[in-house]
Amino acid sequence: MNEQQVYPILGVGFGPANLSLAVALEELDRPGAAHFIERADGFQWQDEQLLPGADIQNNPFRDLVMPRNPYSRHTFVNYLAERDALTNYLHLNAKFPLRREYAGYLAWVADAFHGSVDYGQSAVGLSLVDDGSDGELFCVETESGRQYLGESVVVGTGRSPRVPPPFQRSLGPTVFHSSQYLSSIERLQDKDIRVAVVGASQSAIEIVLDLLNRANIRQVTSVHRGIGFRLKDTSPYSRQVFLPDFVDYFHPLPSETKRRLRAELRSINYAACDQDVIDRLVGVQREYELIASDRLRMMPFSEVAEILPRPREGVHRLMLRDVNHLTEKTIDVDVVILATGFRDFGTGPGDEPYHPLMEGVAHRLPLDEEGIPVVARDYSIELKTQASSPRPLRVYLNGLCEASHGMGDAGALAMLSARSSDIAGSLLESDGFDLEQRLTAGTLQ
Ligand SMILES: Cc1cc2nc3c(=O)[nH]c(=O)nc-3n(C[C@H](O)[C@H](O)[C@H](O)COP(=O)(O)OP(=O)(O)OC[C@H]3O[C@@H](n4cnc5c(N)ncnc54)[C@H](O)[C@@H]3O)c2cc1C
Repeated sequence: MNEQQVYPILGVGFGPANLSLAVALEELDRPGAAHFIERADGFQWQDEQLLPGADIQNNPFRDLVMPRNPYSRHTFVNYLAERDALTNYLHLNAKFPLRREYAGYLAWVADAFHGSVDYGQSAVGLSLVDDGSDGELFCVETESGRQYLGESVVVGTGRSPRVPPPFQRSLGPTVFHSSQYLSSIERLQDKDIRVAVVGASQSAIEIVLDLLNRANIRQVTSVHRGIGFRLKDTSPYSRQVFLPDFVDYFHPLPSETKRRLRAELRSINYAACDQDVIDRLVGVQREYELIASDRLRMMPFSEVAEILPRPREGVHRLMLRDVNHLTEKTIDVDVVILATGFRDFGTGPGDEPYHPLMEGVAHRLPLDEEGIPVVARDYSIELKTQASSPRPLRVYLNGLCEASHGMGDAGALAMLSARSSDIAGSLLESDGFDLEQRLTAGTLQ
């Protein structure tokens, strides 16, 4: 154990959240303090849904760092400038950049931290090991059998896909979540197929539009529990959830109040879409109506109650229930795509109590009255330790705290710079000057 490297800060996942943390630590003159492990073979940002024409849904100035430090070399504006693309970008007058352009920006920043990331390493477990002197260390094990030791861990893996119960036993090459869209649909490109897309989110509408552009897709059935694709609430008043002040307001509220408030504010981010994609789909739908084509079918107020036994090989028979009339009917499709979002931490249907990686330390988690781990304002969970333990053991959740910190937390780029500042500050504060001394002395690196 003595010979194994111990990282002061071990990051799991290297998406925008932990990338933003790397930037914040560099700014605080601690560039070597964190090491990251990332499942993908190189940096990527939601590449399974990097669809042609899709744009981002946040002000590009609210990037990894700009709201905190506009002079940083890691801003989106500097990315454009360095590529001699700033004038052309400004000339477009685009409200939002294309997702592909923004993915290029994120990859460009990630490149600057290449030496701090092990790509192609998928974490499968988190546990505690003895540090040999009365204390404990975190041990992250990866699929390939490697073990990484860290004093603190920052989980920045994004949330787990939400797969509603009727689909859980059918997952596979022809029933998959939107987070596997491009690789899965491209494997089916030689097949003439009918596809059901379940959900009414931004991802769902983008996937419906993309499918309709593919020659091998015979029919798309868009299944929604509600009335159909609804407009996202983009009022600046509602979007206050993406401000750090809102997190200060939200975090101390009782769990029940948090749940009510999140339900009230749901259409800021969930089961809601941008105007541009709604306009595009309505236009496409009208075109099909004019030629009496049933290539696009809308199924409002419908939920998939059950996947029935296959009528024949390669076909899925879905039992749809009208959620208001409670009537049922069946449809046959070849592929089902679940644009059903991601799981929160909590006790609601489809929630998970904590991140699956934390199973190995579950017995040491401090729990609230509902049995959910208590996440502090600085995004940390402080594990229960022995009284003699020389220092606290903290797991930070970077981008996973919607239930505890409010709507702006999970699944939004807008909060990245503020959140990474909070986490970096807390990490360094909890370790104090000691960290710097040990780094300089080379005992940890
Ligand atoms: C298609 C799509 C488009 C979006 N567009 C926007 C947008 O325009 N604006 C916005 O504000 N938000 C958007 N979001 C929300 C999105 O969550 C954030 O943009 C952002 O990706 C969150 O960053 P993250 O680092 O928390 O998570 P992720 O981007 O999911 O990154 C997590 C990283 O961790 C890695 N990882 C996961 N598990 C492991 C493991 N066990 N071991 C090692 N590595 C692991 C993953 O490979 C990934 O690279 C979008 C989401 C999707 C799905």
